[in-house]
Amino acid sequence: MNLLEVQNLKKHFPITKGLLKRTVGHVKAVDDISFSITQGETLGLVGESGCGKTTTGHLLLRGLEPTSGKILFHDKKLGSVDIASATKETLRGVRQNVQMIFQDPNASLNPRMTVLDLVGEPLKVNGIAKGAVLEERVVKLLEQVGLSSSYLRRFPHAFSGGQRQRLVIARALALKPQLIVADEPTSALDVSIQAQTLNLLKQLQGELGLTFLFIAHNLSVVEHMSDRVAVMYVGRIVEIASTTELYHRPKHPYTEALLSSVPRPQTSGKRERIILQGEVPSPASPPSGCHFHPRCKYVQAICKTEEPPLLELGSGHFSRCHFAEELELRGVGNVSA
Ligand code: SF4
Repeated sequence: MNLLEVQNLKKHFPITKGLLKRTVGHVKAVDDISFSITQGETLGLVGESGCGKTTTGHLLLRGLEPTSGKILFHDKKLGSVDIASATKETLRGVRQNVQMIFQDPNASLNPRMTVLDLVGEPLKVNGIAKGAVLEERVVKLLEQVGLSSSYLRRFPHAFSGGQRQRLVIARALALKPQLIVADEPTSALDVSIQAQTLNLLKQLQGELGLTFLFIAHNLSVVEHMSDRVAVMYVGRIVEIASTTELYHRPKHPYTEALLSSVPRPQTSGKRERIILQGEVPSPASPPSGCHFHPRCKYVQAICKTEEPPLLELGSGHFSRCHFAEELELRGVGNVSA
């Protein structure tokens, strides 16, 4: 069952000029994307910085107002709610069910608040618990994320980066959400503790039946975490498939290039890293036709003039490439097609 369905979502930021702030163009940060996430699933969202993945995460919680499109959240109690057009009151209900974990735990934790206040804040603000009950709930949340109850009166500065991110996770769990949008949750952490945090998220998902949108640029991390993966390029989804399918049998040249940098122990043959030429185009003036054409090593005349649609190639594997069926692209490992 789908928990979330995103339909034709757009976020265009106007570019204004002069004293009268005349609109002279738009930055198409998110440009007509559609995807769904089923209950208990993790959908990974990958792409280079500036591709629109973080903006997408913020749109899902209405941290940003969408330009158009639908964000349908299907909840047993609330029914189907379109987050994109919901009233403030409805949004309050939805936000208890959808939480976000940000990249930098330091920015998410007020240094003047104790652990009890920080983790218990959502419960207090929503009138769910106070006093001894609140304390009891916070202790449980700390235990869930592997932190000691003796930390209740401590301040964030007394913790390591990994422990701080655990506090952020504990707070995100306070309202028993169904969906968590995790935006690069481990990229600010030391490599040595990244794996622990990722495993904690996986463990919590198993215990609590959580659903994740997992946003990251590290493809190894996304592979470890995700059931399916969507690849974004200049505001659009260019490929979406199950993790195994996408990593072993990519159907878009951009995905192939991204995968060529994923470290793998070699079992046979030589994997060649594909160095993408040029910069990521600006979403204010993307290239004509296929946005990827100036950097694509398989480019043909049609790519420069005609925009490829996102087409299904079978079993939930979608690609936005004119030659998705013909090209023999290389994924990770040595799985034969
Ligand atoms: Fe490359 Fe053309 Fe496919 Fe775009 S449509 S990814 S330019 S082959």
